[in-house]
Amino acid sequence: MDRIANLVGGKKLPSTSARTAPIFNPATGEQIAELPLSTAAELDAAVAVAKAAFPAWAETTPLKRARVMFRFKDLLEQNADRIARAISSEHGKTHDDALGEVQRGLEVVEFACGIPHLLKGEYSKNVGPSIDSYSDRQPLGVVAGITPFNFPCMVPLWMYPVAIAAGNCFILKPSEKDPSAAMVVAELLHEAGLPAGVLNVVHGDKEIVDAILAHRDIKAVSFVGSTPIASYVYATGTAAGKRVQALGGAKNHMVIMPDADMDKAADALMGAGYGSAGERCMAVSVAVPVGARTADALIEALAPRVRALKIGPATDREAEMGPLVTKQHLDKVASYIDKGVAEGAKLVVDGRGFKLQGYEGGYFIGGTLFDHVDKEMTIYREEIFGPVLSVLRAGSYDEAVELINAHEFGNGTAIFTRDGDAARSFADKIEAGMVGINVPIPVPVAYHSFGGWKRSIFGDHAIYGPEGVRFYTRIKTVTSRWPDGIKSGAVFNFPTM
Ligand code: NAD
Repeated sequence: MDRIANLVGGKKLPSTSARTAPIFNPATGEQIAELPLSTAAELDAAVAVAKAAFPAWAETTPLKRARVMFRFKDLLEQNADRIARAISSEHGKTHDDALGEVQRGLEVVEFACGIPHLLKGEYSKNVGPSIDSYSDRQPLGVVAGITPFNFPCMVPLWMYPVAIAAGNCFILKPSEKDPSAAMVVAELLHEAGLPAGVLNVVHGDKEIVDAILAHRDIKAVSFVGSTPIASYVYATGTAAGKRVQALGGAKNHMVIMPDADMDKAADALMGAGYGSAGERCMAVSVAVPVGARTADALIEALAPRVRALKIGPATDREAEMGPLVTKQHLDKVASYIDKGVAEGAKLVVDGRGFKLQGYEGGYFIGGTLFDHVDKEMTIYREEIFGPVLSVLRAGSYDEAVELINAHEFGNGTAIFTRDGDAARSFADKIEAGMVGINVPIPVPVAYHSFGGWKRSIFGDHAIYGPEGVRFYTRIKTVTSRWPDGIKSGAVFNFPTM
């Protein structure tokens, strides 16, 4: 059985921990690897290595750091297929979906290639007589990232290309459910010429997360995962004096206006609701048709599409949706469906009990569609993170907006309409961090930044893009006077310009 090692100081370093977690192939239910859950002492050793690597890396010119990112980007392109297979073997998503994840991660590397430009500060000449002022963005030191299972390649790449290009050293703690893709990618960054110790991968669970949050030499923590853990990471990390950005869960609504093209809206909902088996923080899990006629037409368009979903393992290139990540998650999603029925929602398509011949041990579930969901129901209030779409009928546009604004989460949202006025007002008034207009999954490109509102994020900075550069650097402003200085006589009053 493959035992997954840590990556410290540029080398694979097997953990000596006695605690382990099994890694499964979700399509078959078979255990395929074992992950040692590293100890706090092993984290300490990795942080010491990163701390030792920091001065030289911070001194390396931004252009040379960018050149490593250029080579890294090439290697990601050349190895995209291999990375996608590593993702699918432990996560279960389809091969094309995994390739898409690699591509979206690679785009952050492309953004990080521009770091010499991104680190440029501001300059003001003559802020006083013969006095100039300039600002500079400097790296923080050793920073850490803690990532979720659902994008085992892309979410780490949301973090460390920007952090490392900016001159920091990085400790990555990948999800313990699918840790292999992050290892393949980290090895490629070393192949691209990254000096040893700048990126280190330490596997583990809560014990490592807590050790990261308490570690005095870790200056900032990026977290992506569920809201309860994001909130805990933010509170604990900031109490320990760290900078923390913690992105949490979601319940993303898509409003369908009466003038929307129903076929296009239904197709968009299929990809956004059931792609990656609903295990995306930007998945649409609530459809909000406005008006009874729109709702009836939507259900009529959706139901046959949901029934026709092609479900299969990643090796089946025709599959549109794979299995869920673990048996526990499968049981949790099925129990939400039970709860939806018990609380009175109308189950239009039931995905429970789905079995795939030859893959009976896999964690498959069929696509599920609920109609007449109301805002008090558990399936509406909580994030299910599975292929379960709830239709909540709104009487008017205003009611749809109020519903979204009242929800505790505010990650992404979308509106489908042909009416520019409704779209413009929606974009302005809706309380969510990422808004799509006739775009179901509005994940910002790498040169913008990703982040929700409300309980979908804790901390002041969104992730990657310009916000990522701000998060991983601190500003220094220098005020300088040449050539007249102390030699022409000291000044003791408070400086005014
Ligand atoms: P999770 O919160 O269970 O795990 C995320 C990370 O936290 C993992 O590395 C895990 O080891 C660690 N962790 C788990 N329990 C912990 C504990 N008790 N104490 C300390 N650390 C702990 O999330 P997940 O199931 O891996 O991922 C799915 C969740 O992530 C969903 O809620 C999804 O919406 C969210 N997500 C959000 C975004 C976003 O950008 N907002 C992106 C991707 C995923």
